[in-house]
Amino acid sequence: IDFGYQQVPKQEKQKRVAEVFHSVADKYDVMNDLMSLGIHRIWKKITIEYSGVRRGQTVLDLAGGTGDLTAKFSQLVGDDGLVVLADINESMLRVGRDKLRDKGLFKNIEYVQANAEALPFADNTFDCITISFGLRNVTNKDQALRSMWRVLKPGGRLLILEFSKPEYKLLSKAYDLYSFTMLPLMGKLVANDSESYRYLAESIRMHPDQPKLKQMMEDAKFKDVQYHNLTGGIVALHIGFKF
Ligand code: SAM
Repeated sequence: IDFGYQQVPKQEKQKRVAEVFHSVADKYDVMNDLMSLGIHRIWKKITIEYSGVRRGQTVLDLAGGTGDLTAKFSQLVGDDGLVVLADINESMLRVGRDKLRDKGLFKNIEYVQANAEALPFADNTFDCITISFGLRNVTNKDQALRSMWRVLKPGGRLLILEFSKPEYKLLSKAYDLYSFTMLPLMGKLVANDSESYRYLAESIRMHPDQPKLKQMMEDAKFKDVQYHNLTGGIVALHIGFKF
């Protein structure tokens, strides 16, 4: 019974996630700015600050999509470093690669189509891994966290930027209202795709809250795990180390 129960939703979720990101890829950046009122740029800037990434390092921007973090890391690591933008979805990878090339960023960036649950890299490869607004789309999050731990170098750090649980009841209510009405409406008006944006709102609600995600990281052997609530916990940045 277990077998049937776990198999069907897993395949369906993967299919659904693939459809959503194929469908939104071309409008992803403009929708991101609209829906977050531009605040995602601040959340990403904070992530970069906590990453501690330096010249010459090797960074994995996992579920990197259209490459906002990759662009910043590419400048930080310089010509003797490397940034790998990995994503499961070829449409998102294509939009990301075109955008970064248009910005003149190509020397130290590689693109890899990969599933976070089974990363195609050797053990101990990266100084830093980021996964920004990606983990909630991954079906088997525990497996993905173990895979990230494996490819991280000892001393390296993982940063997970993701929607989380608002700290205050009123904020939580307002946010629910916003995400279940405004997101699908904006999706309909701008991208002519309310379904994908309804999925987005649902996936945010289903994602583990701050303490639960911290526990999941610890279970995957990450050490010194901490989190920072951003914008009242609408988003949280979790950080953990491999020792
Ligand atoms: N990191 C980018 C950002 O912060 O703007 C993009 C985030 S976008 C909301 C989520 C990305 O996760 C999509 O590009 C999607 O294709 C990718 N994704 C979903 N499931 C994945 C998986 N199992 N492995 C790798 N990437 C995945």
